[in-house]
Amino acid sequence: MEEKSRDFIREIIDADLAAGKHTEIVTRFPPEPNGYLHIGHAKSIFTNFGIAEEYGGRCNLRFDDTNPVKEDTEFVEAIKNDVKWLGFTWSSLHFASDYFDRMYLLAEQLITMGLAYVCDLSSEEVRAYRGTLTESGRNSPYRERTVEENLDLFRRMKAGEFSEGSRTLRAKIDMTSPTMCLRDPAMYRILHKTHHRTGNSWCIYPMYDFAHCLEDSTEGITHSLCTLEFEVNRPLYDWYLEKLDIFRSRQIEFARLNLSYTVVSKRYLRKLVEEHYVSGWDDPRMPTLSGLRRRGVPASAINNFCSVIGLAKRNSTVDIALLEHSIREQLNRTAPRVMSVLDPVKLLIENYPEDKTEYFDYVVNPEDDSAGTRATPFTRELYIEQDDFMENPPKKFFRMTPGREVRLRYAYLVTCTGVTKNDDGEITEIRCAYDPESKGGNAPDGRKVRGTLHWVSANHSFPAEVRLYDRLFNTENPMNTENGADFTSSLNPDSLNTAMNCRMENHMKNREPGFTCQFERKGYFCIDPDSTPEKMVFNRTITLRESWAKLKGKKK
Ligand code: ATP
Ligand code: MG
Repeated sequence: MEEKSRDFIREIIDADLAAGKHTEIVTRFPPEPNGYLHIGHAKSIFTNFGIAEEYGGRCNLRFDDTNPVKEDTEFVEAIKNDVKWLGFTWSSLHFASDYFDRMYLLAEQLITMGLAYVCDLSSEEVRAYRGTLTESGRNSPYRERTVEENLDLFRRMKAGEFSEGSRTLRAKIDMTSPTMCLRDPAMYRILHKTHHRTGNSWCIYPMYDFAHCLEDSTEGITHSLCTLEFEVNRPLYDWYLEKLDIFRSRQIEFARLNLSYTVVSKRYLRKLVEEHYVSGWDDPRMPTLSGLRRRGVPASAINNFCSVIGLAKRNSTVDIALLEHSIREQLNRTAPRVMSVLDPVKLLIENYPEDKTEYFDYVVNPEDDSAGTRATPFTRELYIEQDDFMENPPKKFFRMTPGREVRLRYAYLVTCTGVTKNDDGEITEIRCAYDPESKGGNAPDGRKVRGTLHWVSANHSFPAEVRLYDRLFNTENPMNTENGADFTSSLNPDSLNTAMNCRMENHMKNREPGFTCQFERKGYFCIDPDSTPEKMVFNRTITLRESWAKLKGKKK
């Protein structure tokens, strides 16, 4: 990878190291296991793991599982899998729920220090007491409870004596603070819910702000990197660590990744899954890592994209074309080429012997000499693309038309002699004659032939399904809808088109799901896990060139 310019986070770390604050840099990636990871998380993973690696430090994977309601072990496994797929190895694996005992003790410690109290206000009342940005808040009537009373009530909260929502534990800071998060924030709430790891051991759960800094501190995280929306809460993060006098992790915020033509927020992606707008979290149209992987996007393309966009302090939207560019660049270097016909029509070479099969050396990857060549069978009956033929073509159509000579890639020059049609007037077969002297695809007399078509041998190919994907959303910012419409109104109704009778060369039969290749002239494709021995299914990862802006740009 290229040398990275120093971003503001690396500058802070450099300064902290120079000041002798740390001897080892420790970071963490802290997903909540309530959904699958998306491309936005890849930025965070790339940043946290990348920085640890660069400084010879460590990066932990920690599941921030403090909210039992939406969390599940299914998500834990999927997240681990995604991080590994991106090529990163965590130093150690943690669960915030492993620290529940410690968090509880630290909460009692704050009570004992007179810095936390049990409050009986309802959530509406808490909101009313909090005040606004321009108006200071009011103290809760329960704020002056004694340490003994608070300890007793908190223990009884833990023991399950109270109903959900009836009490909270709050930090006792300052209801007049201009910093809203310091107006006696909640530390614990009552939730009679089963947790995916701790079962029914707990019925009180710590709030994010209290839990996260303790998790960081417990693991000795030197730099806790998070997205900008947490900036306003940093004073609280620091307050807890300072009052408890435990290891001071330093929170640094960076801009979250927003991508055009998609949404990168679990909440909204979850809606697409739950309401069946897509087939699942790993639908190849989803910006999830599992969706991108299933679509055939290489992990290296995602990492390279993260490296290119870098780190900034202000939120912005990255053009999805940048990700697509990174995907094409990577696949161009690594994907073997094959000839596949997506929309086939028969081509009969009338003067080619019926029982003959010739094998041509097909260059597997012109970008990679080590990929070598593949023997590709050529016979009298072939398939070509329907749209490579036109009976009455417009000017500048250089493909097949009656009387014109074209090149069949690597094989021969052929000239169309006529077509056969069915009763509906549809072309069922194109006929042509080949020039036996043009073996390899070049005329001995050097005459110019402009069109080059890909093809497959009818007898050496099989039918397969191909799923052609387009962008999931029609608009650059799907969240920006008119008249308060839901973001699903921006979904692109044509984001999936299925072609059923595509023709694949026989060697493709032995390939496994995940195998990625370039269909010449058609784009990059990979084998979908829906494939069976009877029916193979391919996904189009991406077209060869950017065509979208041109086609749909006018609509804007
Ligand atoms: P979402 O908003 O999608 O639900 P989240 O922030 O709730 O995301 P977490 O599982 O809590 O998801 O996130 C784990 C880490 O990934 C956090 O440190 C978070 O800041 C970071 N992260 C999440 N989304 C993005 C994004 N779009 N760009 C960069 N980092 C992100
Ligand atoms: Mg979150």
